[in-house]
Amino acid sequence: MTRYPVFNNSFFQRLPGFYTALAPTPLRGARLLYHSADLARELELPVELFAPPHNAVWAGEQLLPGMQPLAQVYSGHQFGAWAGQLGDGRGILLGEQQLSDGRQMDWHLKGAGLTPYSRMGDGRAVLRSVIREFLASEALHHLGIGTTRALSIVTSDESVWREQPEPGAMLLRVAPSHVRFGHFEHFYYRREPEKVRELAEYVITRHWPELVGEPDRFTLWLTDVVARTARTIAQWQAVGFAHGVMNTDNMSILVITIDYGPFGFLDAYQPGYVCNHSDHHGRYAFDNQPAVALWNLHRLAQSLSDLMTVAELEQALAEYEPALMQAYGDEMRAKLGFTRQDKQDNDILTELLALMSSEGADYTQTFRLLSRSEVAEARSPLRDEIKDVPRFDLWFARYRRRLQQDEPDDLTRCRNMQAKNPRVILRNYLAQQAIEGAQQDDITFLTRLHQALRDPFTDNPAYDDMAQLPPDWGRALTVSCSS
Ligand code: AMP
Ligand code: MG
Repeated sequence: MTRYPVFNNSFFQRLPGFYTALAPTPLRGARLLYHSADLARELELPVELFAPPHNAVWAGEQLLPGMQPLAQVYSGHQFGAWAGQLGDGRGILLGEQQLSDGRQMDWHLKGAGLTPYSRMGDGRAVLRSVIREFLASEALHHLGIGTTRALSIVTSDESVWREQPEPGAMLLRVAPSHVRFGHFEHFYYRREPEKVRELAEYVITRHWPELVGEPDRFTLWLTDVVARTARTIAQWQAVGFAHGVMNTDNMSILVITIDYGPFGFLDAYQPGYVCNHSDHHGRYAFDNQPAVALWNLHRLAQSLSDLMTVAELEQALAEYEPALMQAYGDEMRAKLGFTRQDKQDNDILTELLALMSSEGADYTQTFRLLSRSEVAEARSPLRDEIKDVPRFDLWFARYRRRLQQDEPDDLTRCRNMQAKNPRVILRNYLAQQAIEGAQQDDITFLTRLHQALRDPFTDNPAYDDMAQLPPDWGRALTVSCSS
């Protein structure tokens, strides 16, 4: 007999008025294309769920016992402007799984059809964007960055129109919560402060249980959201990840990366890299992410203004800058192989980034090659990649002097740096090959890429091809924001 996962659905039970109960709308000719066996194991799922007849669940054709599907309502600021009501326009929260270790996981099916919040949309997702989200969330997770996880990819015979017809698809993603900054904004702008409070209490009870009963729990909670945001943004910047659509409805209250659309990992280092082709003013440019996150936190704080005094809100927000500087500094020092903090570190980093920018050097590969530096050796594998050698030599001499201040020998430092500087990232050209295969029902490349992304720090010859810089066609790829 199949051991079904257990669902308990606290959002459904405790927050009527925050959603519309509604089941998924299946796709024509839907079939399970791929799933993460690792994550399935982590979620204690029996293998039978991935074979007929149970695999119909991944396509929204069948509900598991205990699921209570719903579409959440929220609002948000998009590109800096108040957008009003948004909500799950194409996603259905199927239920909250209760794991044996006490953790709870939302099961959210994206591309599951029209909802009351679909506005002008068709309620669907296309295979291209589902694969991109699947791979990106797996990539970030294995880089140690908080994110929604991706469990399954369903494709179908149903055409969904974007710039052209594409296969309709569904993604089952999981996260401890899908509550966004925009949930709080929704009830604040509707002048329903009691609902803002209700949601805040729910989130604290479920995700910050240590704060329950504290008189100043709201301030402590917001302060933690601010600090976590600073740390997650520092991680994005360190690994070269651009989200692309940092609207407040795409900001998780748990501060995990959510809603992958036209994201991009840096290839060549360009500080002002804009991955979203609809972002004409570069609001969500790579180097603007830290500022945008703070702007978004201000919108969240405003929507919580009935729960705290202005002084308390300001005090929580004031955490952001120092937390970001500290976290970014820690990240980048580790990337550079420094074990202690020194006042010249910032100058060394700034000059390296300036050099990389003027060279158009690959962000990921530069740091990976740097890990193979030897303190006593002026030549290095990185030097061979640089055009402006005199400028590099000047910088590298200073870098080596700085390395001498810290303990580790070359080998230990190399190992530490390689555990911090990935070899494999989700480059657009790699995702593109996985997509093109999958569109022909061939998941060979998708499977291999997924494998490589699960172990991004290891020099594994089996995945040498996944560590290559983009070919010319791959550099010119544009990412449509229509997903
Ligand atoms: P995003 O920026 O992709 O997270 O989407 C912003 C809002 O538009 C969210 O409320 C989505 O649910 C909604 N949305 C995006 N694409 C579609 C679609 N194809 N059909 C219905 N709603 C959509
Ligand atoms: Mg969204």
